Amino acid sequence: GLGTNNLEAFWMPFSANRQFKQNPRLLVSAKDMHFKSADGREILDGTAGLWCCNAGHSRPKIVEAVQKQVAELDYAPAFQMGHPKVFELAARLAAMLPSPIDHVFFTNSGSESVDTALKIALAYHRAKGNGTKTKLIGRERGYHGVGFGGISVGGISGNRKTFGNALGGVDHIRHTHDLARNAFTRGEPEYGVEFADDLEKVIALHDASNIAAVIVEPVAGSTGVLIPPKGYLQRLREICTKNDILLIFDEVITGFGRLGTPFAVDYFGVVPDLITTAKGITSGVIPMGAVFASKQIYDAFMTGPENMIELFHGYTYSGHPIACAAALATLDTYEEEGLLTRAAELSDYWADALHALKGLPHVIDIRNLGLIGAIELEPIPGAPTKRAFQAFLDAYEKGVLIRTTGDIIALSPPLIITKGQIEHLFDTLADVLKNLA
Ligand code: PMP
Repeated sequence: GLGTNNLEAFWMPFSANRQFKQNPRLLVSAKDMHFKSADGREILDGTAGLWCCNAGHSRPKIVEAVQKQVAELDYAPAFQMGHPKVFELAARLAAMLPSPIDHVFFTNSGSESVDTALKIALAYHRAKGNGTKTKLIGRERGYHGVGFGGISVGGISGNRKTFGNALGGVDHIRHTHDLARNAFTRGEPEYGVEFADDLEKVIALHDASNIAAVIVEPVAGSTGVLIPPKGYLQRLREICTKNDILLIFDEVITGFGRLGTPFAVDYFGVVPDLITTAKGITSGVIPMGAVFASKQIYDAFMTGPENMIELFHGYTYSGHPIACAAALATLDTYEEEGLLTRAAELSDYWADALHALKGLPHVIDIRNLGLIGAIELEPIPGAPTKRAFQAFLDAYEKGVLIRTTGDIIALSPPLIITKGQIEHLFDTLADVLKNLA
């Protein structure tokens, strides 16, 4: 049982703590598309945990691989040595990536991947003799984790207010949120593409000779599923190339099949210089992240000046054997079950079911791409509880897990979801929305 003492000592992510303690929800097991709660109910997972369990829960092949690995080689130091699976996994990931991206650096989370990529960007320019290129550009409403680098380039105002710009020399381009919404609901996919030109203005302000990198999520996830206008990411790519600025795509959410392609780079046909990933790399089973780098960047490190040798970056658990075993088994599962393209197969069905919610009370916008969905609800000014959060509570009572961020309900189910389960998810949500105050 859940004793009062247990409840007291545990400090969960800041923003959720008070609310959780008033009404603790405990998950005790999981299988495929469902969690089981402590009170014995089946909860349909509409969010793949936190956008991570892309293969579903406790899949046999992954469970077995982890069990076998922990018994065989529980740990191997990440420096000056390796183990067979870390090479196998890196090669396998490299083969999935578009040319010229062919090197893999392992981390343990999305936040670590982001900080790693930002450091690689600074070091790259230094290696090339451009040591003044140190500024970083993020995007409003971007989410890049909670490391100091990720907070600085991210656009979460609460974090920025408290922690400030932990990194100096960071600036942000505007987001296209309203325009992306309009593009979607008005069927004008290119509407707002010129927002990419905001990058030109920010570059002019700081001078390209001082800027190392631009980081964006191809589709902003945690801040509400913001889909870029068609051509927007291409424009960012062109502007970065012209100014010798590295482009980083944060694919922590969009990677590993979420859009119906292995990565968002495949979906949008735009290749950045660095890609950050985590979550779906092990389907959420074991913490792991990875940064993918182009050959040009890797070569700069290998052929750069001697002082590059003084650089130190890496984690005790980089390429952890158990994480590698989990990732290899996850990739097997994705391949054997066709999960990396499954979102493409289901996306029309998903979109139709999602858009059937249009016209329900308080729904002001609906967005989707691949197997991601967002329902934006009309805000209640000054109300203590957001409607979306109430929807989360009600849906959970009805056995469906959704995620909310502000006034937005976000959906990203495991890629094994069936059409029947999609129908059940949206029937439940419709029921919830109809009864929302
Ligand atoms: N980047 C993006 C795009 C994310 O969505 C997240 C997590 N939601 C992160 C970084 C941070 O990942 P983690 O929580 O594993 O540190």
